[in-house]
Amino acid sequence: MESVALPAARTGGTVNGTVALVWFKRDLRVRDHAPLAEAMHFESALGLVVIEPQWLDSPECDPRHVGFLLDCVTALQRDLAQRGLPLLVRTGAMPQVLQSLRREFRFTHLFSHEETGPGWSYQRDLAVADWCRHQGVNWTELPQTGVVRRLRSRTGWAGRWAQRMNAPEAPAASGFRAATGLEASAVPTLRELGLPTLGAPLPPGGERAAWATMDGFLNGRARDYRRAMSSPLTATEGCSRLSAHLAFGTISMRCLHQATEARIAATTDHSLAHALRGFSSRLRWHCHFMQKLEDEPAIEWRNVARTVDGLRPGDGVHDSSVDTERLQAWCEGRTGYPMVDACMRQLRATGWLNFRMRAMLVSFAAYHLWLHWREPGLFLARQFLDFEPGIHWSQMQMQSGTTGINTLRIYSPAKQARDQDPLGVYVRQWVPEFGTAAYPGPIVDERSAVAAAKERLYGLRKTRDAHAEADAIQHKHGSRKSGLPATAPKRRRAGAAPDGQGQLF
Ligand SMILES: Cc1cc2nc3c(=O)[nH]c(=O)nc-3n(C[C@H](O)[C@H](O)[C@H](O)COP(=O)(O)OP(=O)(O)OC[C@H]3O[C@@H](n4cnc5c(N)ncnc54)[C@H](O)[C@@H]3O)c2cc1C
Repeated sequence: MESVALPAARTGGTVNGTVALVWFKRDLRVRDHAPLAEAMHFESALGLVVIEPQWLDSPECDPRHVGFLLDCVTALQRDLAQRGLPLLVRTGAMPQVLQSLRREFRFTHLFSHEETGPGWSYQRDLAVADWCRHQGVNWTELPQTGVVRRLRSRTGWAGRWAQRMNAPEAPAASGFRAATGLEASAVPTLRELGLPTLGAPLPPGGERAAWATMDGFLNGRARDYRRAMSSPLTATEGCSRLSAHLAFGTISMRCLHQATEARIAATTDHSLAHALRGFSSRLRWHCHFMQKLEDEPAIEWRNVARTVDGLRPGDGVHDSSVDTERLQAWCEGRTGYPMVDACMRQLRATGWLNFRMRAMLVSFAAYHLWLHWREPGLFLARQFLDFEPGIHWSQMQMQSGTTGINTLRIYSPAKQARDQDPLGVYVRQWVPEFGTAAYPGPIVDERSAVAAAKERLYGLRKTRDAHAEADAIQHKHGSRKSGLPATAPKRRRAGAAPDGQGQLF
């Protein structure tokens, strides 16, 4: 998206007649918020959150996302009011919302953060840019993560990430002069938006909750991070649980990175420092994966490796037939594989699951059930409260073997149960009927399903076309170790990886 030149007001002082509109999207906070800091220089300013029908109607959106957003917006509105900035909440499509707002007050500048989102949000941004051009409104988009727009090469990316994350926070914003005659609007309820109320409570949203979660992790829970992250029994407490806050922007990646590094520097506890270093590298992965969607928006619906097109039914390119029976059994947690079903049920009930178990669920859908990743991915997107398109679609493809460059990782549910739930406590908690006649038999025979999957995928990967394509994919998307050329990694045997994910597609 084109960034429009910054206004004269940015250079200091206020410019008469300039009115700034700060558009909050996935950045629902006041701290380290560059667009908000820019708006301080204007004669008057307003904040805006838009609940867009394109989002509500998108196949990735679930009422739990909307519920969490509303919670975050309520907190944001209060925090902004303390700083003199009313937050308007509108429901409708951009740019129609902008058009009607412009009739109410003549804003001259629009500020927002850059967004790396699904196709509909990109199309909406194009429409907003067009509207701004026609109306003579200056729209400035500012980065908030390590994602680089119009990136030419992945070489040097990690250095740019570090530079951004180590830069000072955006100045604290306060003392706004609100545009006259406009007041903060009521935050709608789920019901008012025509959505069902939620069956289970959500974790608290908002900036304060994000910082409390971070403090609790860095100052206590993190000590056990590396040991606790793999088992679903321990990961709920042992992981940071900051993913939904990062997805909705209630804490900035920069603040989290800097607080983590400060904690590492301050502690004399070597095991804590070791755990936090593992955590810290995952923050970089967050942006590393988002960068892929930024660079290649089609990865949300098309195989990264085009040489695997048509391999599984339902890839949407060659045919769109999906084995609905298998898909439904997987979605409902009744595959007859107790560890898979327990994980799915935990996810559906709580909106969160640890990395290893997410990967196992996808591996099971992709290899055992031979389902293309798109439909399972949409279902998981609705379940994950932390849905972040760039991470999500990259991981869906990685765990399904369609990136062309990663080791095939086929998780055995039985082995995961032995390793991560040896006493069967977790399975009993989520699948109480396991071991009774009410529990279904296995939906597929594991041995033959996995053998068939391996044969097809390894067969394809051996082709000359697949090798050539792998080098091109590695060059475009692969992580770089400084100084090393971007060549495709050696293909290794299949198997479940440690939680470090080894190579990063
Ligand atoms: C199929 C699949 C889909 C996924 N979809 C998402 C998603 O939509 N949103 C999302 O935030 N994460 C996603 N992940 C990555 C990971 O599972 C979650 O980030 C993590 O479980 C969130 O819990 P946490 O914040 O307690 O993680 P922690 O272990 O405490 O990690 C801290 C942060 O680091 C980042 N992070 C951790 N692991 C990864 C990873 N493998 N790749 C990229 N960033 C990572 C996240 O921002 C996370 O919040 C997915 C993983 C898989 C296998």
